[in-house]
Amino acid sequence: MDRVYDPAMDVGNPIRLVAIEGSWLRISGVQCGLRCEYCITGVRKRKGLTWVSDKLQSAMQSLRLAPAAEEVEREILESVERFLLDPTTTEETEVTADDLLEFTGVLQLFALFARLDRTLHLVTPGLRLANRDFAKECAKYPVAFTLTLPSVSAEITDAIMGRDGAHALLMEAIGNLQELEIPLSINCTVTRQNIDGLAELVRFVHQDLCVERMTLACFCLEQVLLNVDPEAPRLFAPYAKWSEQLVAIAAQCEERSTAVSVIDVPPCQVEASVLASGRVNFDFAVHTDSPTPSRRLEECDGCPFDPRCCHLPANSREPR
Ligand code: SF4
Repeated sequence: MDRVYDPAMDVGNPIRLVAIEGSWLRISGVQCGLRCEYCITGVRKRKGLTWVSDKLQSAMQSLRLAPAAEEVEREILESVERFLLDPTTTEETEVTADDLLEFTGVLQLFALFARLDRTLHLVTPGLRLANRDFAKECAKYPVAFTLTLPSVSAEITDAIMGRDGAHALLMEAIGNLQELEIPLSINCTVTRQNIDGLAELVRFVHQDLCVERMTLACFCLEQVLLNVDPEAPRLFAPYAKWSEQLVAIAAQCEERSTAVSVIDVPPCQVEASVLASGRVNFDFAVHTDSPTPSRRLEECDGCPFDPRCCHLPANSREPR
C-alpha cells in the first residue's frame, strides 16, 4: 500500500519546528490523513477551511514561498539534535505533530533518537504503518507507538475520524506492529458517538488484540475548536454512560487481571464499585483553553482527588 494521506497542504501553516513548554517539540504543518471530529485540525479540514486546490498548491511551490522540503527537514533535524544535546533538556523530550509519521524526515528523526540513546514514544494516528515496508523501517529503531482506535465498529471509527476506510487501515497498522513486535498501546477519545461501545472496545483491545495498555480520554472542549464548530459541546458523553461502561470494564479487567487508564472523568461521577475495583486508573490532563471552566463542588474539599481532579465542566449535568 502506498502513502495514505491527502495530497493537499495547509498553506497557512508551513512546516517548521516549534518548542512548547521547554521539553515538548512540535513540528507544525505536517498534515495527518484524518478529519477527527474532536480535533481542531480535523474540523477545519471537514469544513474545508485549510485545504487549497492542487492548482494553487503548485502555484505556491513554483513561487518558492517555502524552502525546499530537504532544507526544512535538515534544519528541523539539526534543531532537534541541538535541543537533545542541551544539558538542561529533560529526558522526557517529546516530538509531536498532527501525525509525525507524515514528516518526511521521520526515519532520520528515529535514527537521531537512537544515536543519542534517547527513547521516543510516539502518539500517532498511525495510518502510514499500514504500509508494511514503512513499518519494517520503523522496526529498526527503539520507538514505542500509541495508536488511536475509537471503536470496534468500522462504521463508527470511520465516522469519528472522517475518513472512509480509516478503521481498515488502522487494523492493518496494528497487525504490522504486532507481527514486527514493535511496542504498542491504544488510546481513544471518548465522545457521545463511541461511548456505548467502550466496554466492547476494551474487551477487543485486551482480548483479541492482546494489547495490554489502553487509555480512554474524555472529550475535552477547547475554545479553538468551539470557534470553528459552535456545536462541539454535542460531543460530550454523559457521565452516566461513562459510569455504566466503566462498571462493565472494571468487571472485564478483574477477570483478565488487566487495567485501563481514564483521563478527565471526575471519579465522583462513576459507581463506587469502579473505584473499589482498582482496575480503572483515573488521571487528569491540564487544559489551558477550555471555554467551560471546571466547577468545584462543596464535597471537592474533602475529596482525595482534589486538586488533581479536572472537576466538572461548568456545563455538565448536576452531580449524582
Ligand atoms: S474533586 Fe470534586 S469533582 Fe473531582 S472527584 Fe472529587 S468531588 Fe468529584
